[in-house]
Amino acid sequence: MKTALVTGGAGFIGSHLCEFLLSRKFQVIAMDNLITGEMSNIDNLRGNSNFKYIHHDVSKHIVVNEHLDFVFHFASPASPVDYQKIPIQTLKVGSLGTHNALGLALAKKAKYILASTSEVYGDPLINPQPESYWGNVNPVGIRGCYDEAKRFAEALAMAYHRIHRLDTKIVRIFNTYGPKMRKNDGRAVPNFINQALKNEPITVYGNGKQTRSFCYISDLIDGIYKLAMSTINGPVNMGNPEEHTILEFAEKIRELAKSKSKLEFKPLPIDDPHVRCPDISKARKALNWKPKIELGEGLSKTIEWFKHN
Ligand code: UDP
Repeated sequence: MKTALVTGGAGFIGSHLCEFLLSRKFQVIAMDNLITGEMSNIDNLRGNSNFKYIHHDVSKHIVVNEHLDFVFHFASPASPVDYQKIPIQTLKVGSLGTHNALGLALAKKAKYILASTSEVYGDPLINPQPESYWGNVNPVGIRGCYDEAKRFAEALAMAYHRIHRLDTKIVRIFNTYGPKMRKNDGRAVPNFINQALKNEPITVYGNGKQTRSFCYISDLIDGIYKLAMSTINGPVNMGNPEEHTILEFAEKIRELAKSKSKLEFKPLPIDDPHVRCPDISKARKALNWKPKIELGEGLSKTIEWFKHN
């Protein structure tokens, strides 16, 4: 039986990853300090004898007694509203947390999977973004705490790979949505769904012409697992290449939720990327991976979950 540590195991993506690994007969240790994660995300896993939760801030030295085959470093605030409120913790978990998790993987001779982000591309000057694009990031802007922490994390993972021969993988995660997203995390999908379900105005920032490409959580988890099992060490984009304007998303959610909400336009946040769309050629070719869940289907499932939770 393989054992995996998932930092950020009580977060949105982390908790889905824990559940998936358990279904693949892994022993799973979830670690979280719950600053943005939530115990309710892993309540359904706690009865499983192969699951263990450790409350710990991974920016501090990590102790795990068990043998580990995989370290998935998924701990970090990830919503712009969250990381702008706690930029120092965000920088620490991306730098010190990444270092601690890498050191642990090295000591345990485990494979290491870093959750990186499309934010390493900043406000991209080419669209879609391939892995070979170096990005357009404002280091001192309000998103810099997240973007630069993840860019540093990628650089550190590659250094451990080159110097210590650690088997590291980097997944650049594009916008992902689904059940277990935090209702008040401030992101477009939870905001729009909550607003639509309450028939309150849907808050569109700027003119809503900025684009995003939203991937359903089960597709992302499938891709992360394939990457973890692969021999690839460089970064791999994962996301759904279907690109829409935020206005289109707002309208789609309003329609699927059968809502009477009006649209309300609010100022565009500083440094909000104008476009974002993953070039997933590498994942397609190397991992035979592509997303399967259509936007309408994924959003309907997510709306149902928000209705009942
Ligand atoms: N957005 C919006 N209304 C909201 C929340 C977000 O129009 O209530 C916009 C935001 O300005 C951005 C896009 O939706 O252009 C996606 O934002 P989100 O916070 O979900 O994540 P990001 O992709 O910016 O990291």
